[in-house]
Amino acid sequence: MGMIQARPGPARGLLLTCLCLLLACATSAWAAPTLGLGATTGEVALAPYMSYRHDTDASDGVEDAWRRVGNGVFAPLPRSDATFGFQNGAFWFHAAIINENRAEPRWLLVQAYPLSDHIDLYVRYPDGRIEHRAGGDTLPFAARSIRYRHPNFLLDLPVGQRVELLIRVQSQSSMQVPLVLYTPSAFIEMSRDAQFAIGLYYGILLALFFYNLVLWLVLRDASYFWYLFHIGAFGLVLFCLNGLGFEYLWPDNTWLADKSVPLSISLALVGMHQFARVFLGLGERWPRGNAVSIAAIAAFVAFGIAAIIVPYRIITQAVSLAVLASIIWITIVSIVALRRGYAPARLFLLSWSMFLAGTAVFTLVAFGVLPKSFITEYGVQLGSALEMLFLSIALSYRYASLRNENERIVSDANLMLERKVAQRTSEVRNALAQLEEAHARLHDSSRRDGLTGLYNRTYFHEAFERMLRECNDGGKPLSLLMIDLDHFKSVNDEHGHLVGDDCLRWATQRIGRALRPHDALPARFGGEEFVVALPGHDLHAAVAVAEAVRQSLIAEPCISNGDTIRMSASVGVHTIEPGTIDDIDDAFQIADQALYSAKANGRDCVRSSVSAA
Ligand code: GH3
Ligand code: MG
Ligand code: MG
Repeated sequence: MGMIQARPGPARGLLLTCLCLLLACATSAWAAPTLGLGATTGEVALAPYMSYRHDTDASDGVEDAWRRVGNGVFAPLPRSDATFGFQNGAFWFHAAIINENRAEPRWLLVQAYPLSDHIDLYVRYPDGRIEHRAGGDTLPFAARSIRYRHPNFLLDLPVGQRVELLIRVQSQSSMQVPLVLYTPSAFIEMSRDAQFAIGLYYGILLALFFYNLVLWLVLRDASYFWYLFHIGAFGLVLFCLNGLGFEYLWPDNTWLADKSVPLSISLALVGMHQFARVFLGLGERWPRGNAVSIAAIAAFVAFGIAAIIVPYRIITQAVSLAVLASIIWITIVSIVALRRGYAPARLFLLSWSMFLAGTAVFTLVAFGVLPKSFITEYGVQLGSALEMLFLSIALSYRYASLRNENERIVSDANLMLERKVAQRTSEVRNALAQLEEAHARLHDSSRRDGLTGLYNRTYFHEAFERMLRECNDGGKPLSLLMIDLDHFKSVNDEHGHLVGDDCLRWATQRIGRALRPHDALPARFGGEEFVVALPGHDLHAAVAVAEAVRQSLIAEPCISNGDTIRMSASVGVHTIEPGTIDDIDDAFQIADQALYSAKANGRDCVRSSVSAA
């Protein structure tokens, strides 16, 4: 409630303004107070003692101006501050001074703004004598009373005398005329502190510059280059704005003194836009924004070229507006990058906001919107030093996050590769196992007979050779049975070939069953003839096995396709005693002879090589 009462409404504010205007008109014969320089005064701002007149078409001569001072046409400074923004014509300022300080007959008048083009100082003494002094950056630096970055004039102020100062300022730059009077010792102290602060600032800038220069040389990351570009150009901007460029870099080049500000600002903004683009990766993250930034860069390149041709006033105003627009644009760009999930944009935005605050304040002073004060004057320095420091940190952070991202990608790729390799390996292993199995099957089937599933003659031959060796080595006998089904041809003839096949399978089973208790290897020798190896069996045992085989075949008939087929077999037996024979074909032949003898003996019987003989 109290707050609402305390704040004047817009209507009340308007009323107050009107009242003030009326008052100003009524008291047109207003006269600024005379400045008395006491014994303790070392430094004093002239503003409260100054009156001014805006000579809009710059038509007044100095005589006209003195006359107007006498007529009381001069007005008090608005906000008691000589800051008017960009203005046409000339400004006249008047102040009266009485020096009461016997110890200090000489004083230094400093205009604490370095960019004014023409400053004309007229000093009128009580005896009517008028001294004229000229300053401003259209004169070479050496024309100044003291080598100092701001225009200055040494004044003789005789003690106890009223001296009047009439100052005419005309400039393409912003109209800022902060006049300060110093005793020589006060000036030395002030300039010492100011130079120290400036030195500190450029020290920080230089340290950051060289630190990042090294990083750029080592890392070859483009964003470091543009950071260097930006910091270099921006350092140059402030060097010019402080009047140091004119003092140290081109003291005799008034042309460059005039052009250096818009030129360096254009360069700095080219660097800043380019840095923001590269740092934030706008090309991939926000192609449209990237296009706007490129357009802005082109605009500042154009401004830089125009700065050489176009009058300072126009180009400076245009560039200042473009700087404001750029500040807003770069803020937008970094917010967009941040919202699209780019983490380093956060630090960028933080550093940018510091620069933003400092520069915005400076620009507002240039346009006369804000009064000049310590904060507004050094805001840019403070803001930019912090900005560049944080940008440098942001660069390292960005580098680290890029490296981490790279490492993550590489390790992901490795992991994927490992998985793929493991998958492929298991696939290959499976395929290999299948192949081995198939190979084993194929190998096995190549050794077996398709109809009965018994080993074939080829395999039996090999196996028998092995057994013979083993038996020989072990001193054991090896017996061989030759089994031939009796009258099998008639089975085929009577029941057909398929039933014959069935009978062959049935006979195989019966033989297998009879052999089961023994260590025996049966095989199909061909047609309806089987062969059995009996390692470790002597003739007696082998004949017993043969008898068991014969018995098992006749024990039951084979039943196939509804037919009952009685079957029998003749068996020839031969036993190889250890160490008696090497050629197994001989053994087969002897066994075959025994079989023949069984056949001859009426079939369905067993004959051995011994019994056959
Ligand atoms: P023997 O008592 O003198 O041995 O008379 P056999 O008829 O059994 O002898 P032979 O050697 O004259 O005939 C064998 C017959 O076996 C001839 C053939 O038709 C038959 N045979 C051979 N292999 C197969 C076969 O795989 N399937 C069928 N169904 N018959 C076969
Ligand atoms: Mg037969
Ligand atoms: Mg036969």
